Amino acid sequence: MNVFHHPSAETLVAHAAGTLDPVLMPVVSLHLDHCEHCSQQQRLAAQMGAALFAQPADEPMPPFDLERGLAAVKRRIAHPPPPAANTPDFLGRFSPAALQQVMWHRVTPKIEMFEIPELSGGDHWMRLFRFQPGTRVPHHRHAGEEFSLVLQGSYIEADACFATGDFSEADTTTRHAQQVDSDIACIALIATTGKIAFDNLPYRWASRLLGLV
Ligand SMILES: [Zn+2]
Repeated sequence: MNVFHHPSAETLVAHAAGTLDPVLMPVVSLHLDHCEHCSQQQRLAAQMGAALFAQPADEPMPPFDLERGLAAVKRRIAHPPPPAANTPDFLGRFSPAALQQVMWHRVTPKIEMFEIPELSGGDHWMRLFRFQPGTRVPHHRHAGEEFSLVLQGSYIEADACFATGDFSEADTTTRHAQQVDSDIACIALIATTGKIAFDNLPYRWASRLLGLV
C-alpha cells in the first residue's frame, strides 16, 4: 500500500501519549496498523521521550534539538521493539470483507453513511461514509477537529489525491472541499469533534436536514 498522507507529528505524539480525543484515537490507530513510516516515527518519539526522562535529575537539561535527538535515538536502537497492537477489536469491522456487510444509510443518491454507535454522541461522531464516483463535497469549515482515513477508492482535495491508507486532519482553521476521483466508490472513516458548516447556505440547511452535521 502506498501511503502519501500521514498524521502530523503532534498527532502521533498525542496518540502515543493517549491524550487524543477518544473519537479521533481509532482513526490514527487504524492508519498506524498499515503505515510502517508512522509506526517507526512513533516508536522513535517514545524512545526519545524515555531517554529524556531517564536523565539524572541533577544533570542540566540540554537545549532540545529534535534532529539531533532523533539521530541519537536512531543510533541507539539496534533492535526496535515490535509495534504495539494499535487496533481496538471493533476496528476489525473495517476489513475489506467487513465493509461489504455494512448496513448503509442512504443520505443522498450518492452519499451513504454508517454511524459507529460506540463513539458517537453530542457533537462527536465517528462515521463511515461511502461516496459514489464523482461525488463532490462543497467547501466547508469545522467547529472542531476532523480525522479521515481512506479505506477504499480515492478523492481529490486541493491538488492532492487521498487514496487507500491516506490520512488527513482538519481543524477550526481549515476550509476545504473534496471530489471523489476513483472509478469505484470511495469509503472513508471520518471522526469529528465538532459540527461542520458549508459555505453555501442551501447546503448548510440541507446538511442539517439530512443529519450530516
Ligand atoms: Zn503514516
